[in-house]
Amino acid sequence: MRSILIAGNWKMNAGPVEADKLSAGINEKLAGRTLKSDVVVCPPFVSLHAAVKNLKDSPVQVGAQNVHFENNGAYTGEISTSMLQEAGCKYVILGHSERREYFGDTDEVIAKKVKKAIADGLNVIFCVGEKLEERKQEKHQKVVMGQIKAVIEHLTEEDASQLTIAYEPVWAIGTGETATPEQAQEMHQFIRNYLNEMWSTVQLSGVRILYGGSMKPANAEELLKQEDVDGGLIGGASLDAESFSTIVDIAEKIQS
Ligand code: PEP
Repeated sequence: MRSILIAGNWKMNAGPVEADKLSAGINEKLAGRTLKSDVVVCPPFVSLHAAVKNLKDSPVQVGAQNVHFENNGAYTGEISTSMLQEAGCKYVILGHSERREYFGDTDEVIAKKVKKAIADGLNVIFCVGEKLEERKQEKHQKVVMGQIKAVIEHLTEEDASQLTIAYEPVWAIGTGETATPEQAQEMHQFIRNYLNEMWSTVQLSGVRILYGGSMKPANAEELLKQEDVDGGLIGGASLDAESFSTIVDIAEKIQS
């Protein structure tokens, strides 16, 4: 049985001062509770410290939004897996559409990062998703399958236990437009079938597939109720402690 994962992607929001307030707010809502869901927040690098400090006695874990695939050395501006772990990170988001679009994260680069992060013990939230044009041309399944194949062909079935896939249709990210629960379920089922084809034992290891794209308290329940939707990757609504913890509460209710 796959438990729900609720992950907040703070993107380039909340520097150390704001992150201190936001993580303290989340801590206030969730500290001391035993959750059935896994919950993680992913602040910018410079705000990791504040979040780790404030959430240390809560069930909320902390993750990063990117990592480099080399160990250390002359890679100005980059951050390594060991640095993230030293900072208290358990998760890392990789392959986000904004990184694909603006920062040259190709399938090849993403595959290297995912492989390295898993090898070094981090849990990876690996994002895939089609653009609006691709959806209109009914190429969405082909596009997503290509993105997944490019990464998982470099992984072993054992790596699957540290892998979560986030299906994030690009047209639904930060737009207020959400995939319908039926569209999400259809794509998640397609992804799960594809994983099962690629990895014979993946059904047992149970890779989680999150939905991302304008998830908020008002639409979380119907999305999270879908059979193959195992959680959410949440951008905008994760920047508000009340909204984020409400989504966690919805996930808890669904699992009880
Ligand atoms: C995201 O950035 O991963 C995301 C899903 O953003 P939003 O919830 O704001 O659409």
